[in-house]
Amino acid sequence: MTRVQSEKLFAEALEYIPGGVNSPVRAFRAVGGQPFFVNKARGSRVWDVDGNEYIDYVLSWGPAILGHAHPKIIAAVQAAAEDGTSFGIPNPREVTLARMMCELVPSVQKVRMTSSGTEACMSVIRLARGFTRRDKIIKFDGCYHGHVDSLLVKAGSGALTFGHPDSAGVPAAFTQHTLALPYNDTDAVEAAFDAHKGQIAGIIVEPVPGNAGLYLPKPGYLESLRDITRANGALLLFDEVMTGFRLARGGAQERFGITPDLSCFGKVIGGGLPVGAFGGRAEIMDCLAPGGPVYQAGTLSGNPVAMAAGIAALEELNGRVCESAHGKAPPSRERSQDSYARLEMLGALLEAGMRDAAGSAGVAVQFNRCGSMFCAYFTGEPVHNLADAMKSDRDRFKKYFHGMLNEGIYLAPSQFEAGFISTAHSEADIEKTVKAAARVMRQL
Ligand SMILES: *Cc1c(COP(=O)(O)O)cnc(C)c1O
Repeated sequence: MTRVQSEKLFAEALEYIPGGVNSPVRAFRAVGGQPFFVNKARGSRVWDVDGNEYIDYVLSWGPAILGHAHPKIIAAVQAAAEDGTSFGIPNPREVTLARMMCELVPSVQKVRMTSSGTEACMSVIRLARGFTRRDKIIKFDGCYHGHVDSLLVKAGSGALTFGHPDSAGVPAAFTQHTLALPYNDTDAVEAAFDAHKGQIAGIIVEPVPGNAGLYLPKPGYLESLRDITRANGALLLFDEVMTGFRLARGGAQERFGITPDLSCFGKVIGGGLPVGAFGGRAEIMDCLAPGGPVYQAGTLSGNPVAMAAGIAALEELNGRVCESAHGKAPPSRERSQDSYARLEMLGALLEAGMRDAAGSAGVAVQFNRCGSMFCAYFTGEPVHNLADAMKSDRDRFKKYFHGMLNEGIYLAPSQFEAGFISTAHSEADIEKTVKAAARVMRQL
């Protein structure tokens, strides 16, 4: 497999773009080597500029849940673009997508669109603070909520001290109201609420953290976050930018039966275009400008082309239940069950195959999975939080990553990223992946 054209492009990119990339993980620094450049993607496949084909488990970091270049999304984008790419004044598609989201996600009564997940998280924090008139926020180590100043935090020396900036350029003053706690540890949350009575505006959490690999909430953990916030007059903020419309039609909150006060979205709702959103209880959402005192805005928010892509993606995932939003047909959950059942089936197939592959190669692997999200950690110990994830053997991961890439299988180029499956992946794709993994793991 040669990547001559990619190498040329990367050399040129390094001259004009810092690190040669527009988002750091794409530079392959965590695995070594150079990124490949993609100029075409369809279904479960991407092709690089040298003509190499890969089965893709990155899927643009989650958005391509229907596979790449889904014909319904392409048609919707083309049709919308014909009528103009941006108006800066309300357009009907914003209303349609907002209504669909309110219908699909149980806790969402009103929604505001943004252009990225980062903006959604930044805004939801401001809204929580404005609504509660409190300043402090709890976040969890290993959860990522975009590159928001006050959330780029690593834990302080003790769990009850405020976090330190995790990036140059973030003043310590900007993180002094952020508490960083370990995930899956209810006691730590209780202690923080005890130590800062009446000061904590809310907890922001990825209900299923997918930005340090993937680990799942322990039974009762999300419920405890709901109970503690409610008992203390604080808000529960679910960052469902990754899990929304992926883990179930109503996201992780439907899958785990928890009702957050506010939620953030992105990735899947943009159908591959740049979209974010946040929504929740109407009483809280109505605190946003222009009706309320919490300022939030966006020149391209609710962009008609992006809305068209998002509407097409959700319609395709959920079938006629969404067509009812246009008054065309009575609601039916049949097709939505098909999409999510298919993702679940493919996920289970991959999980079983990967466990077999690791077992027969005698390699210690924790294969964590939730629906169509997964991660393989190279450790013998279960992974429930960031500290556990850090025990994974990263040299092994590097070899595994490059081994799989040379087999034509593209996994995220970092141990600390989740993998994604689309409805366009076939059972044959999964079988091929598992066979490749068995070969690669024997070489580790
Ligand atoms: C991707 C992601 C974000 C940031 O979204 P961007 O569109 O990259 O700004 C925020 N939160 C979570 C959980 C994410 O996975």
